[in-house]
Amino acid sequence: LQKGLEHIAGLPSETLDGYKMPLMVNTGLAQDITHSLNHGAEGVGLYRTEVPFMISERFPSEGEQQAVYREQLEAFFPQPVIMRTLDIGGDKALPYFPINEANPFLGWRGIRITLDHPEVFLVQVRAMLRASEGLDNLQIMLPMVSNIPEVTEAIALIERAFQELCQEGVSLRRPDIGVMIEVPGAIYQVNQIARYVDFLSVGSNDLTQYLLAVDRNNPRVADLYSSFHPAVLNALYTIARNIKHSDCRLSLCGELAGDPRGAILLLAMGYDSLSMNAVNLPRVKSAIRRLHRRDAAQLLDSVMHLETSEQVLKQISLTMDELG
Ligand code: PEP
Ligand code: MG
Repeated sequence: LQKGLEHIAGLPSETLDGYKMPLMVNTGLAQDITHSLNHGAEGVGLYRTEVPFMISERFPSEGEQQAVYREQLEAFFPQPVIMRTLDIGGDKALPYFPINEANPFLGWRGIRITLDHPEVFLVQVRAMLRASEGLDNLQIMLPMVSNIPEVTEAIALIERAFQELCQEGVSLRRPDIGVMIEVPGAIYQVNQIARYVDFLSVGSNDLTQYLLAVDRNNPRVADLYSSFHPAVLNALYTIARNIKHSDCRLSLCGELAGDPRGAILLLAMGYDSLSMNAVNLPRVKSAIRRLHRRDAAQLLDSVMHLETSEQVLKQISLTMDELG
């Protein structure tokens, strides 16, 4: 734990005036579990299931997946664990499933692959559901959604796996289902998407890349990549405002959530929870605990009309210094 922040793991994530902002963690490897629990996480906001697939030499079987998923669900029980269905393609390749494309980030990625291979999707969902037997903390999240039929098709497949397992005698509770908002088009359909699911989680890493047309991994254009770009902040605020009156929960699980400066803006925008790498959790919590909700709202007001990410970051630093 970071020096000076050891005491914070057991303290609630809330502002000085008691406004709660649950902080969750992003996990992938089994070893992430202990770190996360030590840092006081309130559950897993993003379990990247592609990680166990990437360290395997072939597609893991249903039983193998079930064992790995069970470990996550048990470790965090009764807190929620949001498992994202396989998100390969783009920058994440499986050696045993090569994809060669000119524009991998605009190509066969995430939900597009698993809907083209429902057998892979069904095995994975069955493994998740089996792993959740007797625990009721599984939630399932769909990556890289760019249209409504992807949502309805995926929900139908999850329902099919659920029914099959019930018939096989597995005793299950229907998991909450969510969609990642990481393709710009999804921002403009966020209301319609929200009608089909229980929660939305913004993938700000991909959303920034696609909104600004800047490859998130290309050092040559790294200067242009910033989730504090006013266009990105406007998009994030638009999402929050558009689903404010629905009962769909809203979270954000990209790197922006793990930056205290981003976390405060997201709190002000009305995001219900944040998910981040465990190492960032103590300093995000510490920043939240130092301010009133109205301070965050004022800060948001003061940055939303700015023109560049540099101006935004400068304004946030000034305000945070003032708050001490
Ligand atoms: C994101 O895109 O912000 C995200 C959380 O998913 P990943 O980084 O795994 O693409
Ligand atoms: Mg993503």
